[in-house]
Amino acid sequence: MMIPCMGTAMTSSIKCPQCGRSYSIDEYEEDKFCRECNKLLEVIPSSKVKGWRDLFPYDPYPQQVEFIEDVQRTVAKGGVLLTEACNGFGKTISTLSCLLPTKKQIIYATRTHEQVRQVLLELKSINEKSGEKYSAVNLASRNFLCINPDCRGLPNNEAQELCHTLRKDDECPFVHEIDKPPKRLPIILGRKELVDEGRRRKICPYFLSRRMAQETDVIVAPYPYIFNPMIRLMTGLDLEKKILILDEGHNIDQVGQEILSDTLTERGLSAAAEEMKLIRKSPRYINRLGEHLLRNDRDKPRLVKPRVLEEELEKALKTDIHTFIEGHAPLVDAIRSMKIQNRNPPVSYLNGLLGFFELLQTSQKSKYVGLYKRNYYGAPVIEYRCLDPSLAVEPVVNSADGVLIMSGTLSPIDTFAEIIGQEKAEKKVYDPIQKSEKIKMTIDTGITSTYKERTEQMITKMGRTISDDMEKVSQGALIFFTQRGFMNKCIDTWTRKGIIKSRTGLPYLGGKQLYREGRDANQNRDVVTRYKRMAVSIGGAVLCCVFRGRNSEGSNFPGDQARGIFLVGVPYANFGDPLVKAQMSFFDKQKRGLGNKWYTMDAFRAANQSLGRGIRGRDDWCHYWMLDRRYKEHKSLISKWAMGEKLIIRRTGSKTQSTFKRFKDDAIIEL
Ligand code: SF4
Repeated sequence: MMIPCMGTAMTSSIKCPQCGRSYSIDEYEEDKFCRECNKLLEVIPSSKVKGWRDLFPYDPYPQQVEFIEDVQRTVAKGGVLLTEACNGFGKTISTLSCLLPTKKQIIYATRTHEQVRQVLLELKSINEKSGEKYSAVNLASRNFLCINPDCRGLPNNEAQELCHTLRKDDECPFVHEIDKPPKRLPIILGRKELVDEGRRRKICPYFLSRRMAQETDVIVAPYPYIFNPMIRLMTGLDLEKKILILDEGHNIDQVGQEILSDTLTERGLSAAAEEMKLIRKSPRYINRLGEHLLRNDRDKPRLVKPRVLEEELEKALKTDIHTFIEGHAPLVDAIRSMKIQNRNPPVSYLNGLLGFFELLQTSQKSKYVGLYKRNYYGAPVIEYRCLDPSLAVEPVVNSADGVLIMSGTLSPIDTFAEIIGQEKAEKKVYDPIQKSEKIKMTIDTGITSTYKERTEQMITKMGRTISDDMEKVSQGALIFFTQRGFMNKCIDTWTRKGIIKSRTGLPYLGGKQLYREGRDANQNRDVVTRYKRMAVSIGGAVLCCVFRGRNSEGSNFPGDQARGIFLVGVPYANFGDPLVKAQMSFFDKQKRGLGNKWYTMDAFRAANQSLGRGIRGRDDWCHYWMLDRRYKEHKSLISKWAMGEKLIIRRTGSKTQSTFKRFKDDAIIEL
């Protein structure tokens, strides 16, 4: 039988009528029966292949139709598209509906488990609406999928090494070499399904997910699976001929840089030295590195060029790096064996140290920098930091056959594209689908938090302004500050000045009970739970948070949990930080002025992220107060969906305002 050509949106498809597994022409010609169910395969002529409208489970909004048509025109045909569309836009369902009929395998990269759940749910609703059987698997880490009690629950690197050893010695009771996909598996394999099926069938869910990734229509994978070449190699995740979707793609520059960087720590060196003693070898070279680290411990971080770092480390080692690697690499296996004998996880810190040196030797030195600094706990470390996000992004984008980078906050999208080396990609920002008349944004140019102007008078003015505006917020409100120290200073000042009032011993701002973001994850979880409960109760509540902190990304405050958001200051990165300076000068060398553009983009990306906490769905809305005059200077960098129908610019404390105040209104100048 002649089969019309495959590979575009409206072509023939070959599927098993029972399990829904798709086959290529070559596979069909080799054997016309399903490898799994033995059913005769069905050739669906191009005229019957479904289009996105058959798959999309709702009545599409015009913005969604525009988005889908753009994705079909570019991504489905192998191009690259960068898009910004607000939260609740329906990006996932729109993307899947229009790309599934292309018959190319889709790799959907996400950042959180909640997003994975969402993708699988959307696929389920597509299947229900269309009667199709599109399959999917979640590639998750061993932490979530391992069911061997000896290995499960160990830190990732320890689990990886123990799993490797158990398999090598044939000591894991769960089948991990899976030639053929097991029969009658659920069509959508999330973590739970993989673990349940693994336990039932005595198969390792981790290796089952990797095997099924060769078969399914959609692979849902975390970011490191995409950007880390080692993980890609180990999991066999080949991007060729596949469509890649990078959801929540606003941080891919940072994620990529992180993955291509490494850190040498005092703790890692001590552990590696202990490992040497364990196998009765001298740790003198490693001890020399430890001494070097301590000798270079200073209050202020110090930047060094990669060549200088290399020289300094060789001087400390009293040998060259190549000789050090050659002499120590063969010892890693001995260390692992000894640890197993001692019933410890076979993780090797020496291996980690060798990885640091290998990166230092093999990386493109013009795109890296070394940094001596103290870490979060005050211990001295050496960071070897990648300055070029395109080093991670470009190879990934170039390997795939169609890439969609989407997020609610890619503004300013042109700068973002330049930073990740994708200036030639198509870019588009979509109108929100929320009722924009319900969303309001006010920029107050009478306030700023620049370091020079951060006086007690200015802080008091901020507090009074927020307190006045807070009374217009019906329920929950969030206030974002540039740093924790500044947040504490504001709260102290506002308490002293009587702006924050005490009622039965509890602080209140603008009539709402005030909460402060927790210092660590547990404390914050507790604070947020209490805040949310109060936010939706009579009178509402207010939560003080920090930009780029625990509540600015990853936390959601839908509906009444955030009807007002106040941004106090613009979250520019610390200009005095040598790494920020190195990053700016790297971009400036690439293109004049790009360093400054990146610096501003980075600040507005953090601001837009915080604004996004308040609008989580199609019917959600929020009012925004941008308390810094610099927001007016750069208003083109604020995400469009947050501005509502009319942007209001006012100047608190100016003559203009007092004139308007007589008319019982804020000083409002509408643009
Ligand atoms: S093979 Fe699977 S079940 Fe066994 S230790 Fe490794 S991850 Fe765990």
